[in-house]
Amino acid sequence: MYTTSEGTTALLKDASVDMQGTHKPSVDPIIDAAKAVYSELGYDLIITSAADGTHSEGSLHYTETGRFDGGQALDLRCAQWHGYPKEDRLEIERRLRQRLPAEYDVVGQSLGHTSHIHIERDLS
Ligand SMILES: [Zn+2]
Repeated sequence: MYTTSEGTTALLKDASVDMQGTHKPSVDPIIDAAKAVYSELGYDLIITSAADGTHSEGSLHYTETGRFDGGQALDLRCAQWHGYPKEDRLEIERRLRQRLPAEYDVVGQSLGHTSHIHIERDLS
C-alpha cells in the first residue's frame, strides 16, 4: 500500500514495486487522478511498476532519467487478462488524460499498449 501526500491510497502489485525511488511530487498526482478514475469504473488501483523493473533505455521510470531526483513514471494494472475489457481500458485512459495536466503522457490501449497503462510526467 502506498499513500500520496493527499492521502490517496493505491495497492502495489507486490513487494518489488519501488515507490521509495520515485519523485513524489511527480507520481502522487498520477495516483490521485487514477484512484478517482479506477473507483468511478469500479476497479481497484494497482501499481505494477514504479522506480523498479526493466524498461526501455532512457525511461522515466529510472531515477536518473528525468529532471528530478527520482522516477517520474508509473505503470497501472489494466490488462485484459486481469479482467479489464478493452472498452474500460480506453475509458480509463480518456478520463486520465482529462484529469491530468498536459505535462503527463498516458500510454495505453489507444497507443497499442495492452499489458498496462504507462503514465509519465514528461517535462522535456
Ligand atoms: Zn511504464
